[in-house]
Amino acid sequence: MKLPQSITKLIGSFERLPGIGPKTAQRLTFYLLHFPQEELEVFAESLESLKKDTHLCSICKNVSETDICSVCEDPARDKGTIVVVANSLDSFALERTGFDGVYHVLHGIIDPLNNIGPEEIFVKELIDRVEKLTGEVSLETIDSSKVVEVIMATNMSMEGESTALYISKMLRERGLDESKVKVSRIARGLPVGGDVEYADDITLGRALEGRFELK
Ligand SMILES: [Zn+2]
Repeated sequence: MKLPQSITKLIGSFERLPGIGPKTAQRLTFYLLHFPQEELEVFAESLESLKKDTHLCSICKNVSETDICSVCEDPARDKGTIVVVANSLDSFALERTGFDGVYHVLHGIIDPLNNIGPEEIFVKELIDRVEKLTGEVSLETIDSSKVVEVIMATNMSMEGESTALYISKMLRERGLDESKVKVSRIARGLPVGGDVEYADDITLGRALEGRFELK
């Protein structure tokens, strides 16, 4: 028996998603076949606008509806405290802890085994951003009594650790020494191998509070 092409095509699309094997892909497709046409159209429209109507904030690279995201635009946020996360979901998790600084979203993590180097993620953009910010400290556009702090909040995995260390090293190599930039790492409470995204608010809040300086 040959399945209609529109069905095999959708099965193929589902199969590309993480955690979805051929069986689940088939089940989802046939499930959707029973949806009313209008509901399918709403579903299709949200898929279509997912990327089209989403930008990456030009400052922090987080997903945003506008060129500059609501966090970067908020005058009440401390622009001199940047939490570096691997993906947008991690920033949403940290947001629930009441953190009042800003973010930098790398959109990945350095993972040589999967061919992801620093060039594949937004590392350079972070270093440039911090460098620019330290210039502004001396111009007193942000609170000059405070050094810029970069808090590495990547996962407690081997890749997360080495990404944090790599960025720290890059900042120092750019001449941003401890008098200009403090680099710290979230710590306490997060289990080894733990994911930032799945940590509960209290644990994550404590991990942020208990950060230690990366030397
Ligand atoms: Zn932003």
